[in-house]
Amino acid sequence: VLSYRHSYHAGNYADVLKHTVMVSILDYLLQKDKPFCYLDTHSGCGAYQLDSEQSLKTGEFKDGIAKLWGKQNLPVPVSRYLEQVSTFNGVDKLNSYPGSPMICNQMRRDDDRMFLFELHPNEFTNMRGNFSGDRRIKMANTDGLQGLVANMPPKERRGLVLIDPSYEIKTEYEEVVESLIAAHRRFATGTYALWYPVVKRTVINKMERALKASGIKNIQLFELAIEADSEEHGMTASGMIVINPPWTLLKEMQHSLPFLAETLGIDGQGQYRVETLVAE
Ligand code: SAM
Repeated sequence: VLSYRHSYHAGNYADVLKHTVMVSILDYLLQKDKPFCYLDTHSGCGAYQLDSEQSLKTGEFKDGIAKLWGKQNLPVPVSRYLEQVSTFNGVDKLNSYPGSPMICNQMRRDDDRMFLFELHPNEFTNMRGNFSGDRRIKMANTDGLQGLVANMPPKERRGLVLIDPSYEIKTEYEEVVESLIAAHRRFATGTYALWYPVVKRTVINKMERALKASGIKNIQLFELAIEADSEEHGMTASGMIVINPPWTLLKEMQHSLPFLAETLGIDGQGQYRVETLVAE
């Protein structure tokens, strides 16, 4: 039984990092006059109200997007991400938050295709309501990791895969690595972005080791912590592991992460990691 609902977490500091990295990658893909394919293995419903009971219950967006809203002189990648959030809101006030499929849908051109997977029946129904009527968007109420491997390589031969599980099941940490390896075997030149939470540091260390040992080249890691590692406080940091990143991404994150760590860190505890896990 899936109990995770992204509506409790939309716009939190983890979404800020995830979506900043995602916008940077899409901006790069958009520079070329050739269609790309976007595949989202764990899409969520795509649109969140920040005054909903769920958002207000955790208040997580207040320590995330709300701390950036209306700020001037942002690093360019962060301001491009904020542009997407503000396009979605349409007004000066921060009322709502776009999920990953919505951000891609706002940015893509008519010829760029999207594959969206969401396993939860209600989330899937909501997603269908948010994206219906476009034949270039394919939606499936099935397992996203299986859907990923089955759809590689995309006919465009260029694109972004976002893997953003809820990690409700412990084996997911291993499954994502296995699926990445299988997908990469079929589509070695694609860009893959894997989100991970730091709840137990040892679990992430193991995932990093597995990826380093996989034989896949060109892997970078970007992590944002708002508190020091702790096994008692739940998630204290989260990161994005990117395979085949645009060459511009490392510099952009070196520029953005110190700012995000300072702005979003709690009591000055913000930290970040920018690392090349495997060279090109
Ligand atoms: N990617 C979204 C975003 O950035 O806006 C947020 C996704 S949320 C972290 C994870 C979603 O994955 C949840 O909506 C959950 O119902 C869904 N989910 C869980 N297991 C899944 C699976 N095996 N396949 C597809 N979706 C799954």
